Amino acid sequence: MNCPKCSATEMMQETVEDVTIDRCPSCHGIWLDMLELEKLLATDPRPLLEEDRVFEAAPNVAGPRINCPRCQGTYLLKLNSREHPGTIVDSCTVCYGTWLDAGELARLANVHLRDRLRMLFRTRR
Ligand SMILES: [Zn+2]
Ligand SMILES: [Zn+2]
Repeated sequence: MNCPKCSATEMMQETVEDVTIDRCPSCHGIWLDMLELEKLLATDPRPLLEEDRVFEAAPNVAGPRINCPRCQGTYLLKLNSREHPGTIVDSCTVCYGTWLDAGELARLANVHLRDRLRMLFRTRR
């Protein structure tokens, strides 16, 4: 599958826990199929974040419209992320896949780790 942003670049598969994602070696964006983002955030996406943090995208820039890498000819919809308002993620309304620019997964995951830590330490306060 080719990167929806750098259309000539083939994405590389990476597996974390049970989730296989596609990452572009050129722009370092990540493609997630339906429910993979939820699964990643529910487990521990940290192995993926090292590279993601290094290539952090400019914050909150929606960028140009891009096509779904799975459904040719379908534009991805720009959505304000529920987990991290202000982070614009690109979603496909046909296959429910999600495109994350470099740095966006790190931002979304940070919120989740913070919430989890808060839950862990809640009883202490
Ligand atoms: Zn790319
Ligand atoms: Zn699609």
